[in-house]
Amino acid sequence: MIPVPTLHITLLVTHLARQEQVDLAAAALAQAEPSLAELLGGAELALPFSGVAHFRNDVVFVALAPGPHRKALHSLAELLCGRLEERGLLEGDARGFEPHLTIMKLSRAPKLRSQGIKRVDPSLYSNYTSRFFGEQTVERLDLCSMLKKKQQDGYYHTETSLQLDLTQHPLHRKRSSGHRRSEPDEAELLRISKRLVEDAVSRAVQQYKQETLQNGGGPNAGQPPGNADGDAAMKTTDANAATDSGK
Ligand code: AMP
Repeated sequence: MIPVPTLHITLLVTHLARQEQVDLAAAALAQAEPSLAELLGGAELALPFSGVAHFRNDVVFVALAPGPHRKALHSLAELLCGRLEERGLLEGDARGFEPHLTIMKLSRAPKLRSQGIKRVDPSLYSNYTSRFFGEQTVERLDLCSMLKKKQQDGYYHTETSLQLDLTQHPLHRKRSSGHRRSEPDEAELLRISKRLVEDAVSRAVQQYKQETLQNGGGPNAGQPPGNADGDAAMKTTDANAATDSGK
């Protein structure tokens, strides 16, 4: 239900009614940088995600695993709350910070709600309640608008961002693996694209098989996907080959 580009951890929610307040909040975020770096002590903040839980059965989320990172994330959220509060920019419901990665939200499914569905049935995710989902390093803090139109990349409208560049901190410690996570190199990109293509082909074949079965093995049963156009495609290819060899 939640589009992947919008996945996020909310540190705090406030109401900034005027652009002037947005600008002040953006400045507060920028000014918090040295304190944030100090708080993290030059170490990356890696968040391991494990298990699935819910709020009132209408919001389902992947939970943050227990461990010292929770305290660090809490301190980070507290620091930001404090900076906004002292500028009179913290307004709204002061719910306790409960880090979560929302993956399902009934408010995003008006069709289901209009059918009278008011809760997400826990049996839908019972196989995942102790699943380890992976680890994500905190790299950026964003000041986002919940109401403005989403960006082209699908993420929330972002007023400003603070990149956590810990390499600039004197206490910067390298990860136990010995190096910071860097941009993927060309070979890795190639591996990823190859896997994406393989996945897409495998999904298309699966879908074709399923449709063939559903259609009771229709007129094209047994032929690979797209075969109805296969002849034309072969001719085009042959014609191109002939043209090429004639050049
Ligand atoms: P978020 O993933 O932060 O956008 O939150 C998704 C929804 O979860 C919000 O719209 C809130 O309704 C709900 N929510 C967030 N935090 C809490 C909380 N601590 N307790 C109960 N509901 C929450």
